[in-house]
This record gives sequence, C-alpha cells and structure tokens, in this order.
Amino acid sequence: MIFAALTIFPELFSDFKRYGIVGRAVKNNIIKIKTYNIRDFAKGKHKITDDRPYGGGYGMVMKPEPLAEAIRTAKKNLQTAKTILLTPQGKPFNQQTAITLSAEKEIIFLCGRYEGVDERIYANFIDEEISIGDFVLTGGEIPAMAAIDAITRLLPESLGCKNSADNDTFSDNLIEYAHYTRPQIFEGKKTPDILLSGNHQAIENWRLENALKRTFLKRFDMLKTRNFSDKEIKILKNWQADIQKLIDGNGK
Ligand code: SAM
Repeated sequence: MIFAALTIFPELFSDFKRYGIVGRAVKNNIIKIKTYNIRDFAKGKHKITDDRPYGGGYGMVMKPEPLAEAIRTAKKNLQTAKTILLTPQGKPFNQQTAITLSAEKEIIFLCGRYEGVDERIYANFIDEEISIGDFVLTGGEIPAMAAIDAITRLLPESLGCKNSADNDTFSDNLIEYAHYTRPQIFEGKKTPDILLSGNHQAIENWRLENALKRTFLKRFDMLKTRNFSDKEIKILKNWQADIQKLIDGNGK
C-alpha cells in the first residue's frame, strides 16, 4: 500500500517511517510512505504557501495553487489514490474507517496548517475529510500519521502475528481483555491464575468475560448496539444472577 503525505513539514515523517511496526512495514515493502513538500509547488522566490484571509480576521490560509499542484503531482504518480484532507471538520476517524481504508492501494493525505486550506480546494481535489477527534491541532501531520499507523497494523503481515489485530479493542466492538506479562507478581499484584493454567479454552473464556466486563465499565455505549453471542448472553445472565444475590442479601 502506498501513502503520500502532502505537507509543509515532510521532515516530521522521517522518524515515523523508521520505527516500530510502521518502520518494519516500510522495510518489508508492505507499505511505502512518500512525502511531497507543498512548498516545492509554490511559485516565486519566497515559495509562499499561505496568505492572509480575504475579509480580514486572524491567522493565515493555505494558498490554493501550491496545494492543487501538489495534489496533481501526487495523483500523477498514484492514479487510483483517493485524496483525504485531515481537518477537525471531517468525519470522525475510527477503527471502522481504518478497516475500510486498509482495502485501498494508495491514499494521499493532505495535511493542513495555519487556519486550514482555501475553500476552493475542497470541491475538485478532496474525496474525503477526516478528523481524528474533536480537538484542534496545529497541523494535519500527526492526524495523517495516526491514520497511516492504524491502517498499517491492519495490513496482512505487518504485525507479524496474524491474529493480533483481530483481538484489538474495537475490532469486535469490545474493549480488549487485560494483558499480563512477567513477573507473575508485581508489587503485590498477582497475574490471574487462569492465565497460567495452560488451559486454552478456560483462558479464552476468561478473556471474553474480561473484555465484556471492561467494555461494560469503560464504554457501556459500545454494548448498547451489540448482537451478543449465546456465550456472551450466558456470561451476562451469570452477572445478573450474582447481582440479584447481592440485592437479595442486602443488609443480611
Ligand atoms: N481553523 C481550522 C478549524 O477551525 O477548523 C483549524 C485549523 S488547524 C489549526 C490546522 C490544521 O491542522 C488543519 O487544517 C488540519 O489539517 C489539522 N488538524 C487540526 N486538528 C485536526 C483534527 N482533529 N483532525 C484532523 N486534522 C486536524
């Protein structure tokens, strides 16, 4: 898969491309991350990429001509790519967006700066607008990296272990179960015995119940639309019975 980032700060991507799962995916040719410096497409001696807003007001606006040229050039090299603008005004990016985008062959990310991009870029050059959350950052580079990172770990072979992403939080609309590693006891806190038992079925059952419990406590909203499996209904009924026992025994 090929990602292109159009940015006035391409250097921000250099370490991102080198480390961790993304770095390994680049080394193993699972992904390519190309950067295009928007400044290279600006005209004049000073290569200006921003200007004052018409109508007055604060901040600067990214000029349309260098953006258009940068997108056209990236598109020439990546002909099937959709162009995604990172903007806090866009559709919220979530795990489902990452899954959908992981089916693409090429994606161009346009990283805004200042007060954003000239409005006339939207209609003819942008296929989708994506926000990584209801907060405003100073630039689209971190959002682009967040999207590339989330998409990359979904690509076959990028994680090394095939099933790793399948269990992730959100992949099954549940928060992931708790993880433990050595030492067995850390500052008085024990690893649950079941995880040391070697009984794979019992471990799987524990993990499912733990994931349900964590989702119930941390993200109840995710359970509201869930189609529970028979196994999950059984777990919920056990909880219900336990809670009923607590209510019945109240004060006794
Ligand atoms: N004035 C703009 C507004 O109110 O919508 C915000 C501009 S922001 C300071 C500069 C750039 O950062 C944006 O053009 C966008 O590329 C990026 N950005 C900021 N917050 C973002 C978010 N939550 N998701 C995606 N991109 C974001």
